Amino acid sequence: MTELTFADWQARASEIEIEGRAFINGQYTDALSGETRPTYNPATGEKLVDVASCGPEDADLAVKYARDAFESGVWADMAPSERKMVLVRWAELIELYAEELALLETLDVGKPISDTFNIDAPSAARTIRWSGEAIDKVYEQIAPTPAGTMGLITRLPLGVVAAIVPWNFPLSTTAWKIAPSLATGNSVIVKPASNTPLTAIRIAELASEAGLPDGVLQILPGPGGSLGQHLSTHMDIDGLTFTGSTPVGKMLMEYSGQSNLKRTFLELGGKSPNIVFADADLDKAANMAAMAVFFNGGQTCTAGTRLIVQDSVHDEFMAKVIECAKGWAPGNPLDPETVMGPMVDQGQYNTVAEYVEVGLGEGAELAYGGKRVLSDEGGYYHEPTIFTGVNNQMRIAQEEIFGPVMSVIKFSDAQEAVEIANDSIFGLAGAVWSRDINTAIKVAEKVRVGTMGVNNYFGGDITVPFGGFKQSGNGRDKSIHAFDDYTELKTTWIEFE
Ligand code: NAP
Ligand code: MG
Repeated sequence: MTELTFADWQARASEIEIEGRAFINGQYTDALSGETRPTYNPATGEKLVDVASCGPEDADLAVKYARDAFESGVWADMAPSERKMVLVRWAELIELYAEELALLETLDVGKPISDTFNIDAPSAARTIRWSGEAIDKVYEQIAPTPAGTMGLITRLPLGVVAAIVPWNFPLSTTAWKIAPSLATGNSVIVKPASNTPLTAIRIAELASEAGLPDGVLQILPGPGGSLGQHLSTHMDIDGLTFTGSTPVGKMLMEYSGQSNLKRTFLELGGKSPNIVFADADLDKAANMAAMAVFFNGGQTCTAGTRLIVQDSVHDEFMAKVIECAKGWAPGNPLDPETVMGPMVDQGQYNTVAEYVEVGLGEGAELAYGGKRVLSDEGGYYHEPTIFTGVNNQMRIAQEEIFGPVMSVIKFSDAQEAVEIANDSIFGLAGAVWSRDINTAIKVAEKVRVGTMGVNNYFGGDITVPFGGFKQSGNGRDKSIHAFDDYTELKTTWIEFE
């Protein structure tokens, strides 16, 4: 727990030295073209630093170093117990530099410092440590074959993996990708989101300091449209892991098919149902319903943006939710008291404002919020916003807004709740609230999502897999199951006399 105050964080922010270069083959380096692109502080609109803008030629170089490192066996053939120790040391360094990493993340993304320090930075360290500590405890298999034969079933690293990540949880999402891919022996190239590259750039140096060999982890900031596409169509990259929007995810699957069929795993968007029955603990459910949407300004793929409430308690429950929403007023993210910061940039702010107009146009009732606030600070702050009277066919119930906008839909019985919940192209997360275990379990089983909470929202930790059904993606981050995405299953059939 840091004791730093708002003034302390502001003082550190004014002094921090920010690295904006790519990290290639163990060194910070400019893009070969010399091009840069600024990254901004969403709380003020001010430029933080010029960041290397890498292109295809930088990618080709990084792929060559990654391939050489892989083929040399310097990492892939290291004993799992030694790879473990490198990852554990790296996690310790991330903990040691947690204040600096939290500050970088807050400046770059606009997330509250209390979140980046208490959630994002520790989560990254925990993920890397967990994958490291797991890798020397997984066993492989021998099949039940006839006498005189032996069928070995082993898992081998893919080789060179590219990770393309979004801006909403840059540090923790990057850790979700690189911890299992590195633990399993791959060489990894990360392309961070253009507007939030800073923490990925910083932790690469810490990885080197922890003993990760050169070329095994490289960070290439640059545009999705050119650099991202070049990586995705590269003939010498074996795996692609992605978190981001569903439209880009669909393109990546095509790129894979057009190039070398690289293993492609996607974590995409959501429109997650949060179902509240009349017999739930309504105070707790209301508190969490607000958090489920307003945490991280709603810029969370698992946000519980469809609040599906049993009609008999709708008005009573919504009065409680609106009370809770008042606690999510946006503020300066460097203030440890702030719970919600600005939207990440002007574009994301505009999207939110447009969807508020769409909701009003569709006839939903604006029950709370709906406006820009704190505009004199220069940041993109939007109030927590609640629409009631929504039906599930409206655009504000079907489309991912990625902002602090809740759409409230009524239901009468469990079957209807499940039908509404499943009437979505997405299937990432959801929750059900009821004191009746029969109702809760029955509904939880029927909702087609990758992660379902029962009497909680955002539950779960590194021990359980995370990912989507339907157009929310394929593959899984976190837990031992993440290792599957970064390894090929190999059979070796042995005959003996
Ligand atoms: P995005 O536009 O899909 O961008 C994600 C990443 O892909 C960025 O690094 C982006 O680079 C890159 N990219 C863009 N176009 C590309 C292309 N043609 N080829 C290769 N790479 C390309 O998504 P976003 O707006 O940053 O993030 C928000 C989305 O992520 C939301 O839909 C949200 O639901 C989803 N998300 C999902 C999860 C999950 O685990 N399921 C978690 C978090 C977020 P640039 O930054 O240069 O554009
Ligand atoms: Mg930024």
